[in-house]
Amino acid sequence: MSAERTLILVKPDGVARGLSGTILARVEAKGYKLVDMKFVHATREILEAHYAEHVGKPFYEPLVEFMLSGPVVAAVFEGERVIEGFRSLAGTTEPTTAAPGTIRGDYGRDWGLKVQQNLVHGSDSVESAEKEISIWFG
Ligand code: ADP
Ligand code: MG
Repeated sequence: MSAERTLILVKPDGVARGLSGTILARVEAKGYKLVDMKFVHATREILEAHYAEHVGKPFYEPLVEFMLSGPVVAAVFEGERVIEGFRSLAGTTEPTTAAPGTIRGDYGRDWGLKVQQNLVHGSDSVESAEKEISIWFG
């Protein structure tokens, strides 16, 4: 059995603020292995597939617009319990209250917008990781 894999995105706010390297370095420093990576300006088609579970929610359209606003870094990391481990490192969704020591807690805050610009995405289950890796990497 191969080790678990997860799809991580440095969202457009993270790239624009020059935090891509810092964020990837923190994931590597925790001990996870970088196995694939690319710099990409997402299409609406990719984002509709990636965020299908959120269709109809009030933040859905602002979320898609935000994710279209600039390039992202898409990366696949591998390791024992990497899905849970990365989400723990990322911190909770809302950056204002994400715990200090986490990526969102250390570098994020609320900007008064309709969408949480919270720097990173990480898959939330083995099933969504498989789906998201194929969406972003084919
Ligand atoms: P997570 O990224 O922590 O898994 P979700 O999957 O629930 O969070 O939501 C996807 C993304 O949508 C979040 O990362 C955030 O950018 C945005 N988002 C989620 N909930 C809200 C909300 N209540 N208001 C604004 N934006 C939100
Ligand atoms: Mg999610």
